[in-house]
Amino acid sequence: MAKEYETVIGLEVHVELATKTKIFCGCSTAFGGAPNTHTCPVCTGMPGSLPVLNKKVLEYAVAVGLATNCDITRYSKFDRKNYFYPDNPQNYQISQLYLPICRNGHVDIDTAGGKKQIRIHEIHMEEDAGKLIHDEWNDTSLVDYNRSGVPLIEIVSEPDMRSADEVIAYLEKLRMTIQYLGASDCKLNEGSMRADVNLSVREVGSQKLGTRTEMKNINSFKAIQHAIEGERQRQIEELEEGREVIQETRRWDDNKESSRPMRSKEDAQDYRYFPDPDLTPIVISDEFLAKIKSQEPEMQDAKIARYQKEFDLPEYDAQIITSVKKMADFFEDTVALGANPKKVSNWLMGETMRLQKEKGMDQDQIPFSPENLASLIALTEDGSINSSVAKEVFEQVFADDVDPKQYVEEHGLKSMNDEGALRGIVEEKIAANPKAVEDYRGGKKKAIGAIVGQVMKETKGKADPGTVNKLIKEILG
Ligand SMILES: [Zn+2]
Repeated sequence: MAKEYETVIGLEVHVELATKTKIFCGCSTAFGGAPNTHTCPVCTGMPGSLPVLNKKVLEYAVAVGLATNCDITRYSKFDRKNYFYPDNPQNYQISQLYLPICRNGHVDIDTAGGKKQIRIHEIHMEEDAGKLIHDEWNDTSLVDYNRSGVPLIEIVSEPDMRSADEVIAYLEKLRMTIQYLGASDCKLNEGSMRADVNLSVREVGSQKLGTRTEMKNINSFKAIQHAIEGERQRQIEELEEGREVIQETRRWDDNKESSRPMRSKEDAQDYRYFPDPDLTPIVISDEFLAKIKSQEPEMQDAKIARYQKEFDLPEYDAQIITSVKKMADFFEDTVALGANPKKVSNWLMGETMRLQKEKGMDQDQIPFSPENLASLIALTEDGSINSSVAKEVFEQVFADDVDPKQYVEEHGLKSMNDEGALRGIVEEKIAANPKAVEDYRGGKKKAIGAIVGQVMKETKGKADPGTVNKLIKEILG
């Protein structure tokens, strides 16, 4: 009988914090910029330069720790992780090994089998490295230190996940939580959130963990899913053929849909960590902790409850709208302008998400203003435009953030619901469709649909279908 295998996955997630300046110097963290312009002696590892911790980094790290149910380490330290690499000018990275700032947390995720708790082993603060650009054309490598010293937190989970779906649910939960806190924008495609996947397989029922491999910096949910499925299959084949899984770091190539070894996986002792003598230990006071706690914004669960109570929104809508902080903010801004909450929710969950998906945009990319959505909703509510015209106008709002009122006027899209003006066209179409009239009178009430359709066509979609229906029925008695 074929053996059954279970996948065991733990994640190391790096998140770039949204501070304006770097972790140990005053250089800008802005993305992009001409190479090596956001640099100074500290973040280029010049001898004699001294790092000073950016307090905002500590505040964000503690806020994320509290929101993920961690214990906050009241006395913590930085350590040097020693290794040579050209993007690492100090020859060590300042990180935390012995006393990370947060420990023993967890988040709850929704899975097909219900709620599941994923434990967080620790969260530590560290600095990012620079960036190497390999110019194959000129056979040279260039280095840009703008990213060197950008603050990161690394969130290390326990090996509690069993499938790609659980991994994605966990990452989505982390992303949402951190976005709500404002600690990072968590964009996988820009590298402000990056996941390393530690994966092993074992026979179902076995308690012992198999040998794991690590896949580094996978930058989309889709690639993570592929990498997990591909690596699970590869490890099972190794075991089935009587070989051993080797502990190593592998690079996932999403174009080839396969991974290849990068290097044998190193252990902590390979880095000869030691406490950084240039940085003083961090002591967290009760006041500091109380301040961070008091600053926690309204999180998703509280928002869901409030939207149902305050706006009478169905729970389903509230859940979807609040799953992305920017969308929740947008929703509240539009409602504050006087728009009907359920209508705002419908436009966001319907056409907005449809167009975002169609254009490959993230859910937090809303390319139009609350004012223009509120104005579009007002036009539908006062009968100025019908629902099919509204959809057409919305596409323009989405594309260019046009003012719907002005657009409707300029393009003559105002609804024709003036009975006097419509009556003539309706009479004409009734006369032209004797068969439909006969069917209608014979009891087939749906037969007038053909006449409504022709009136709509004649008026280029501007007639109000309700008025047209009413007129036809009136004329036909
Ligand atoms: Zn600097």
